[in-house]
Amino acid sequence: RRIGYAVVGLGHLALEEILPALSNCKKSKLTALVSGSPEKLKKVAAQYGIAPENCYSYQTYDQIKNNKEVDVIYIVLPNGLHKEYVIRGAQAGKHILCEKPMANTAAECRDMLSACSKAGVKLMVAYRIHYQPHNRKLREMIQKKEFGVAKFVEAHNSQSTANVNHWRHKKALAGGGALPDIGLYCLNTTRFVLGEEPVEVFAYQYSTPGNPLFKEIEELVSWQMRFPSGVIANCATDYDVHESRRYRVNCKTGWMNIDQAYAYKGQKLTTSKADGLMKRTEEIGLAENNQFAAEMDHFSDCILNNKKPFTPGEEGLQDHIIMEAIYQSAREGKPVKINGIAATNTWK
Ligand code: NAD
Repeated sequence: RRIGYAVVGLGHLALEEILPALSNCKKSKLTALVSGSPEKLKKVAAQYGIAPENCYSYQTYDQIKNNKEVDVIYIVLPNGLHKEYVIRGAQAGKHILCEKPMANTAAECRDMLSACSKAGVKLMVAYRIHYQPHNRKLREMIQKKEFGVAKFVEAHNSQSTANVNHWRHKKALAGGGALPDIGLYCLNTTRFVLGEEPVEVFAYQYSTPGNPLFKEIEELVSWQMRFPSGVIANCATDYDVHESRRYRVNCKTGWMNIDQAYAYKGQKLTTSKADGLMKRTEEIGLAENNQFAAEMDHFSDCILNNKKPFTPGEEGLQDHIIMEAIYQSAREGKPVKINGIAATNTWK
C-alpha cells in the first residue's frame, strides 16, 4: 500500500519540488491538496488528478479527518503557521510531516510534540539532508574514523534575497532571518554528521543598517558550537551575499568537504588525506537522489512498519533550543551553555 499525502500550502516548494517528487515516490502518493486560493487549487488538482472532494481550504482543513485516503498531512506553509496547522492536523488524527524550521520557537515545538503525542500520530521534520547520499557518506566516514577523529567543522549557508514584502522578512511569519531559514542547515547537518549534541554556543549577529530587508529579521549570524568530544564547529549564514552552501570536516589525517552541500542537487564530496609525504585529494562520486522523494518514502515506511522517523519532531525542538541559545549569545556577547537537553540524535 502507498501512503496518502495531503499537501498544505501551494507555494514554491510545494509546486516546484514536493508535488513532482510525490510522483517519483515508491511508498507515497498525493491524495489531497490544501490552499487558500480556489483558482490555484483547481489548476493544481487538475494537473495532478486530485478529485474536488479531496481539495480543501484553510477553513475546511479540519474535515480531512473524514478522508480515509489521507494518512499524512505535509505542512509547507510559512514557518509562523506551522504550529497551528500541525496541531489541527494531529487533532484530525493524521500523521504529520512538517517543513523546516519546525516552528518559530522552542515553546511552539513543545506544543506541537505534545499535540501529536496526545493524538497518537507520528511527527517528522522535513530535514532532507539526512536522506541525501553525499551527506550520509560523509557521516559514515566520520563514524568509521577514516581520517582519524574529527577536530573542527567549517559550515556556511548563504544566499541573497531581495523581496522585502515576502513573509521571510516578517518576524511573525518567519520567526527570524537567515539563521532559522538557511543557517539551520549548518547547525542541523553538523549535528547529524558528528552524531553528537553541542554543549555550548558563541555567536555574533549583524544586519546592514538601513537595509529594509532586515528591518524585522537578521541578515548575518556567525556562531561556534562546542561538542563534548572536543570538536568545534564554526558556522555562518547570511541573507545578502552570493550563494555558498558548503562545509568541511577537518580530521586528524584528512578532511572531507561538500560543495553545494545543502542544495537540492549538485553535491560534490571531496576528501584530502596525508599519504606518506604526499597529500592525496579525491572526489567521491555518488549517484544523486531526489531528496524530497527519499524523505517522504522514509516517513511512509515508518508509518507502514510503525517505526520512529530519523528526523522526528524532537530534532526540530533540539534545533530551536540551540538557535535560541545562538541568539542569546549574540545579544549578550558571551558563550551560552546548552543545558538540559536529552541527546535526541536518533540517527546513530
Ligand atoms: P512560499 O512563500 O513560496 O509558499 C508559502 C505558501 O503559503 C504560499 O502558497 C502562500 O500562499 C501560503 N500562505 C498561506 N498563508 C499565508 C500567509 N499568511 N502568508 C504568506 N503565505 C501564506 O514559501 P516556500 O518557499 O514554499 O516555503 C514554505 C515552507 O517550506 C517554509 O517553512 C520553508 O522554510 C520551507 N522550505 C523548505 C525547503 C527545503 O529544502 N526543505 C525549501 C524551501 C522552503
